[in-house]
Amino acid sequence: MSRHPELARRALLSAGLAVTAAGALGAPAVAAGSRSARGFAAPSISGTGAWDARSANGSIDVLDSKPSKIIVHHTATGNSSDTSQSHAFALSRQIQDFHMDSNGWIDTGQNFTNSRGGHLTEGRHKSLAALQGGSQHVLGAHAGEQNDVALGIENEGTYTDASVPGALWESLVELCSYMVSQYGIEAGAIYGHRDFMSTACPGDVLYARLPDLRSAVGSATGGAVVQPVVWPLLRPGAAGPVVSALQLLLRARGAGEVVVNGVFDAVTGDAVARFRRERGVAGPSCYASRVAEPDVFGGSDWARLVPVLGVDASGDAVRAVQVLLTARGAHSGERDRFGLRTAGSVREFQASRGLRVSGVCDRETWLRLLG
Ligand SMILES: [Zn+2]
Repeated sequence: MSRHPELARRALLSAGLAVTAAGALGAPAVAAGSRSARGFAAPSISGTGAWDARSANGSIDVLDSKPSKIIVHHTATGNSSDTSQSHAFALSRQIQDFHMDSNGWIDTGQNFTNSRGGHLTEGRHKSLAALQGGSQHVLGAHAGEQNDVALGIENEGTYTDASVPGALWESLVELCSYMVSQYGIEAGAIYGHRDFMSTACPGDVLYARLPDLRSAVGSATGGAVVQPVVWPLLRPGAAGPVVSALQLLLRARGAGEVVVNGVFDAVTGDAVARFRRERGVAGPSCYASRVAEPDVFGGSDWARLVPVLGVDASGDAVRAVQVLLTARGAHSGERDRFGLRTAGSVREFQASRGLRVSGVCDRETWLRLLG
């Protein structure tokens, strides 16, 4: 590690200058200033040896494929004011202990950890060497079905309403830029955990900064940024047509007790929890945070809930499509039955969003209607 990581970081960000790392604290730390294949300077990242990680309790899966996305988490631990590297190392050890001893995993779940002081560390063993090589991906345990295609970054703190420290932000931009550069990941393919699972992670504040993060990474790496369309996150107290649609879709799946009132109430929360339980996706969605969020609904759980609907379909799920179309100003005039006019409204909506125009409400159409 450089003795002056902040200086090195600023120099890299402002001028893209190569700087030399001094006083490496145990291998394998990346020398700041080493250049990736596409020209982006590597940030300083302390390997598992540097922070005295335990050995993995099993073999690490190193996939011969590149990850295609980055998933941002928060640790949901305290917002420490200790910005030292020793604190960052202690945090890395605490997370590893939790993941191995409480979750029963072979090693740390995420690939990398970022402290509030802006110190980057390797999470799961071999993740750093894989990133430096740029052609392999270490299978982590941080985001369910996404683990084999997504790098996971745990950011220290809880960002439900606290602001993101400048040092953490800078190191996050650097790490993501390096990942994008090494693997050819699209800068727009940086997501929050909630985009894939029913969790509030990485907190509303950090999540709201993801568009800025993508833009910063895009300008650092010279790539165009397409902001992604994502499933909405709904929590108790939420209100509006998307909640009505959720309630209708739950009713269509058998939750007849749910009243369609457009408010995420306790009955809706119970139905959501049951839906997740029945599909085996109950329990804490964000494994790092240990926080149970049984009545939160978002991410891929939507994909499990929405049916493909076309002409002649009927019932509450069709009503959900119609409610969403109406909210988008494309009222079909039909109710409960998927007739030709509803199909026409779906086609118009698909054309307006650049989707394949089929008149069938498929997953991509639901995503745009809900997102
Ligand atoms: Zn998470």
